[in-house]
Parts: sequence; structure tokens; C-alpha cells
Amino acid sequence: MANKDIELIKDGKRLDGRRFDELRNIKIKAGVLERADGSAYLEWGKNRVIAAVYGPRNLHPKFLQDPTKAYLRCTYNMAAFSVEDRKRPGPDRRSVEISKVTADALRCVVMLEKYPNAVIDVFIEILQADAGTRCAGLAAASVALAHAGIPMKDLVSTCTAGKIGDEVVVDLGKEEDNYGEADVPIAILPTKKEVVLLQMDGKLTREEFDKAYELAVDGATKVYEIQKAALAMVGGN
Ligand code: UDP
Repeated sequence: MANKDIELIKDGKRLDGRRFDELRNIKIKAGVLERADGSAYLEWGKNRVIAAVYGPRNLHPKFLQDPTKAYLRCTYNMAAFSVEDRKRPGPDRRSVEISKVTADALRCVVMLEKYPNAVIDVFIEILQADAGTRCAGLAAASVALAHAGIPMKDLVSTCTAGKIGDEVVVDLGKEEDNYGEADVPIAILPTKKEVVLLQMDGKLTREEFDKAYELAVDGATKVYEIQKAALAMVGGN
């Protein structure tokens, strides 16, 4: 991961000019698809993501049904044209992992017990990837679920932080993710600051981890405001 030949931070500024605690530009629009029950389009730096929700509807085959709650499943997919080297279409280890951790995080907020025997499908399509797509996808999916009118305890807000050179910074860009020392994506329930996803790639000391965690939670709190604003706009423009 780390590459000492690439100077990722110089005079306190990162490659794209950001400060250590500055997020990339984020835009979210809820309600972008006619045929989904809920949807959202999200831009996060150069990431471009669509999330679509279908359901709740009856789950088939029937033996998968749970009479006590709905089954929430998630499919994270990267388009073939979303990355520099063409991505081979179809699921792979990475997309299966991201689908799983995303579904696990969303199950913490969706009130699944309200829909026995049902399924809620969440699709995340990465149209353009530039690091941090699991966070971008999860933030979009949470807005799409709320847009679908599915009862939730909270939104899920996300952000990464990590270490580049000797500095701990928020929201790693592509080069920072590729050549940095460590990357910590998190997802929180913003009102209670409860963590529903936390992963780490690379190595950090305890102190560095604490700093990264704090920066990522602050970042996710900013993302929460953008998510709420996107939902408030529905039916407006
Ligand atoms: N990436 C890529 N090809 C792949 C998978 C990932 O070019 O098959 C890039 C993409 O820009 C992605 C980044 O590597 O955003 C970091 O991927 P990672 O697995 O760390 O997940 P992410 O940061 O997107 O959540």
C-alpha cells in the first residue's frame, strides 16, 4: 500500500489541495428512479453512485421467509467502466464482502420487524469509482431507504479516515488510498453515534487510530447533514 516515493502531503496540503480534515465535495439527490420504491444519486468527489430500493414485498422462495421480520439484502456492484482498468462484470470477493457489510449496517436501522415474510432489496451501482465507494454506496442506500418510506431508527452516515505519509487525514482520495499507509471506513447512526461498520486496511498506532476515528465520525456527521437536506428536497424541486 505505502509508497515512500509519492509525496501525498506537502506544506499541510494534500494532492488535491484539501486540508487534513476536509471532505471532498458531496452532492446527494433523492428520488431519481421511476421504477424503484426509493432511490438516490450521490456524487462524492469523483465517485458516482446510484442506490435503488425495492420492497418491502413478499419473499420468494417461501422457505426463506421469516415470520418475525423482513429480510434485507444488498447487492453492491461496480460497473465495468467505473474504474481505470475495466472491471470484469459480475460479483467478486470484494463486491460480496461490501454487499455483506453494507447489508449488516442497514439492518441495524431498518425496522425489519414491521414487515414479516417480506424482502427489502437494496441495489448499489458504482458508476464511477475513486476510493471510498463502500461509504458512498452505504450513504446513498440509506437515503434511498428513507425515500422509499421504510421506517428507520436513524440514517446511516459514513466516512473514511486514514494515514498518508505521517499524517492522519479524513476521506482518502484515490492516490491516498492506493499509496497511503492505512484506510479506516466507518458508518455510524448519527444521532447516537453508534458504529455499524468499521474496517481497517493497513496499520495504525492506537493514537493514530483514535485520531482517524474522530475525523471519520466528524466527516460522517457532515455527510448526515447532506443526507437530511437531500431528503428534505424531495417533492420540492
Ligand atoms: N478499485 C479499482 N478496481 C477494483 C476495485 C477497486 O480500481 O476492482 C479502486 C476504486 O477506485 C476503489 C478503490 O480502488 O474506490 C478502493 O477500493 P477499496 O476496496 O479500498 O474500497 P472503497 O475504498 O471503494 O470502499
